Amino acid sequence: MDNRAKVIVVGSGLAGSRTAQFLQEYCDVTLLTKGELMDANSALAQGGIAAALNTGDSVNSHFADSMLAGGNESDKNNLKILIREGRKDVKTLIQEGMEFDRNADGSLNFGLEGAHSTPRIVHAGGDFTGKKVLEFVQSKFQNIRVITNAFVSELLVRNTKNGSEVYGVRFLDKQNREMIQIADFVVIATGGLGKMYKFNTNSSTVCADGFALAKRAGAKLRDMEFVQFHPTLLKSTTPILISEAVRGAGAKLVNSDGDYFMKNKHKYEDLAPRDIVSREITREITLGKDVFLDASACANFEKRFPFIAQKLKENDIRRDRIPIIPAAHFFMGGVTVDSTGRSNLRNLYAVGEVASTRAHGANRLASNSLLECLVFSRRVAQDILSRKLNHNPEQIEAIRATETSQIHVPSLMQIQEKASCSIGIIKKQAKLRDFMNWLSKFDTQKISTSKEINELENLVLVAREICAASLKRSTSLGAHYIEVDV
Ligand SMILES: Cc1cc2nc3c(=O)[nH]c(=O)nc-3n(C[C@H](O)[C@H](O)[C@H](O)COP(=O)(O)OP(=O)(O)OC[C@H]3O[C@@H](n4cnc5c(N)ncnc54)[C@H](O)[C@@H]3O)c2cc1C
Repeated sequence: MDNRAKVIVVGSGLAGSRTAQFLQEYCDVTLLTKGELMDANSALAQGGIAAALNTGDSVNSHFADSMLAGGNESDKNNLKILIREGRKDVKTLIQEGMEFDRNADGSLNFGLEGAHSTPRIVHAGGDFTGKKVLEFVQSKFQNIRVITNAFVSELLVRNTKNGSEVYGVRFLDKQNREMIQIADFVVIATGGLGKMYKFNTNSSTVCADGFALAKRAGAKLRDMEFVQFHPTLLKSTTPILISEAVRGAGAKLVNSDGDYFMKNKHKYEDLAPRDIVSREITREITLGKDVFLDASACANFEKRFPFIAQKLKENDIRRDRIPIIPAAHFFMGGVTVDSTGRSNLRNLYAVGEVASTRAHGANRLASNSLLECLVFSRRVAQDILSRKLNHNPEQIEAIRATETSQIHVPSLMQIQEKASCSIGIIKKQAKLRDFMNWLSKFDTQKISTSKEINELENLVLVAREICAASLKRSTSLGAHYIEVDV
């Protein structure tokens, strides 16, 4: 009889993979992920991981920068945990063998990014940081049951005398069969919601599922109005993110009239917080101008940004005239959790971008999210290991006939168009109300047995949450920018 705790981790980004890695020695771990193992935003991260490890840097300085970027809305305790423990977690990763880029003298090479007062971003393979870190963590998997192409569609909840508790998940496997997996603990690490928007930087598997799963199960969501837009997505048929680190290395934003329009807009100019830069770009675009990144001043561009340099070459784009557009990038809100990742539902944890620890406040500081994955995955794992076991029934696998779905949902294109214009970079109350009315036509409580339809239902449900939260907050704060109706 295996007396180890059964843990299901949903999502194979850095948050899920690191949680599974920590637990594999002590628990019976199943990792379910929607696509292949590397299909995750974590694998796309370019800039790196922020950690106050540079000479002259300090925990206080990193804390102050994060607090300021977050509109002073961060949960101070969780932000302190993130920054203080994050230094140790990055060092642990290095001790385990992870290789970050170094200077000729062997010291870590720290990059600078928007709203950081000093260079503190460790990176790997130039701009391949996320891929390198995720591959490294997954290379440590030894004792984990990995099920890829597993689309988790429902959290299983039962009522107990201590309240509701989660005891497993329902998922569609590669053959589209419905499966049930029972566990003592479920950790959702499903990332954010980029797919909601027409222009986004995210992996196509990152589709708001985790928020919808949690909400339907009865978990609390919060801060749903805070969607972060990244200022610089390459405007092309094969869009990619142009990391903030490129501006950190000297690139400047310029409009089609040749104006360096961020000058005098903020003390950090092009490296102002993302919401400010995204809004200024949006204003230029609204005036009918195109916006470019002029990266001609960046030294060692090909070496420092090999991925971006390659993509520019493939698209025949000059380095001094890179066409860009702001795009949905990161989500500060999510499933309400405490500093150990526990949600309000017993045995349900959330970690990474899907979770809201409030460490990021109303706007995340660049490169604090991979750090969040490292710190809070360890904390979730430690908390699970400290829990007394009250074993759930043995795993059962149920195969049910797939039903034809009759659920009425809008198309992805409709959702993206409407979301981009109503819950985007600049919000207006009248548009929010119109969008809310439109969304209310769709039923999101039934769960479709089609993965595609289920994804659309999830987007509708979460769009509604964003709309409602945005309507409630009538004044602008951080990434939530709302203009008064005239
Ligand atoms: C282009 C880009 C660049 C970035 N650069 C940086 C950076 O330099 N530094 C930084 O700190 N942050 C960066 N970020 C943000 C950072 O990458 C993410 O916030 C972080 O990686 C989130 O990790 P995660 O593990 O929570 O989610 P993800 O890495 O997004 O993983 C989510 C996982 O859940 C799976 N999943 C989703 N729904 C389901 C479902 N229903 N069933 C099963 N599995 C599911 C997905 O397939 C995926 O495997 C960047 C983000 C992007 C998009």
